[in-house]
Amino acid sequence: MTAELITIAEARHRVIEATPRLPTEAVALTGVPLGRVLTEDVVAAGDTPPFPSSAMDGYAVQAGAAGRELVLVGESRAGEPTSQSLKDGQAIRISTGGAVPSGADAVIRQEDVERRDGRIVTGTEIAAGENVRLTGEDMRAGTLVLAAGARLGPAEIAAAVGAGAGLVTVSCQPRCSVLCTGDELREPGSTLAPGQIHNSNGPMLEALAREAGAQVPVPDRLPDDRAATIAGLERALAGSDVVVVAGGVSVGPHDHVKPALQALGVSERFWGVALQPGKPTWFGTLGDKLVFGLPGNPVSAFVTFWLFVSAALDGLQGTAPPRQVSYARLGASVRRNSRREQAIRVRLAGDDERRVAIPNGPQGSHIVSSLLGADALALIPPGDGELAAGELVELVSLRR
Ligand code: AMP
Ligand code: MG
Repeated sequence: MTAELITIAEARHRVIEATPRLPTEAVALTGVPLGRVLTEDVVAAGDTPPFPSSAMDGYAVQAGAAGRELVLVGESRAGEPTSQSLKDGQAIRISTGGAVPSGADAVIRQEDVERRDGRIVTGTEIAAGENVRLTGEDMRAGTLVLAAGARLGPAEIAAAVGAGAGLVTVSCQPRCSVLCTGDELREPGSTLAPGQIHNSNGPMLEALAREAGAQVPVPDRLPDDRAATIAGLERALAGSDVVVVAGGVSVGPHDHVKPALQALGVSERFWGVALQPGKPTWFGTLGDKLVFGLPGNPVSAFVTFWLFVSAALDGLQGTAPPRQVSYARLGASVRRNSRREQAIRVRLAGDDERRVAIPNGPQGSHIVSSLLGADALALIPPGDGELAAGELVELVSLRR
């Protein structure tokens, strides 16, 4: 390990600086482009709604008092507007979503009228504009609906369709390979012999990478063997924009990742972050390809992925949400690490005015259960003794 550990901020900076942008492609909004990142703005092509329409099932009328008797002269249904225009003393039956005919300026609900053959009697007073959805009330033609860099969730997909788009231009997805090293690792669900553990990092890192918009092949497991590590990493590098290898990145006699990456010509950008958990994190590049060596303990792997690999996957896709800086008061005192910043798993309680970060169970880097229900990582600056309950700490949200 280099004598000098770098800060979390410096490590993130080096990752972002080394991250190129991927090419773009057009995708159909009907193809559920969930999680894809826009590389071009979406501007409303026309007004939405495109015509004044009824918000209720009822009768298109002119505004006026209760007790009027109006002659029914036609019907406007959703998708089947009437060509008739409404005149004084008339009403036109209308469905929710039906176009409000010219001459009408309000819709009276069907439960507010009495029907008499061929006529209605209005049971309430009705004001102009009542139960009418106006043209462009949702989006005006030409306005910016979604900006480049936005990640498409269900609401963004609906808004892009509403804006008139059929295709959107998005970043190509990063191809991210996950490798797990360790002779002790066995498949999830398998029976364990003494000394063996289940490989939880493989599925966890695959899920993290997918959530960040990457395409991820089934993670590979590598034994603690120099030649096998080189061969596995070489295979992964060939078809990936990002390689994430977990475990074997420390200084033990069976840690082969660093020398293997060196043998493959991957140049080191950093090794060693003043972070607990996550000190032996390694980052390097081979041309445009980014390689992360994460510590094997599951929480260390999770935290370092969240802090560093996510930044790379976001950057590749052209979305770099400035890390939201928010703070909370510590809900319990925390023993500090003299040299390293700690990222502790916390639950948040209280309102924005007085948010409290409560450590979410024991903080060992092997305690995965303390990630369950955690809202954020609270950053505890290095120092002596304890950081007292009530002190202000910076948060890194664990929500995407
Ligand atoms: P290492 O970074 O290889 O020294 O591993 C550190 C600790 O994490 C050891 O206790 C490993 O057994 C454990 N570990 C490594 N890889 C995994 C994995 N894929 N799933 C669960 N635990 C792991
Ligand atoms: Mg290992």
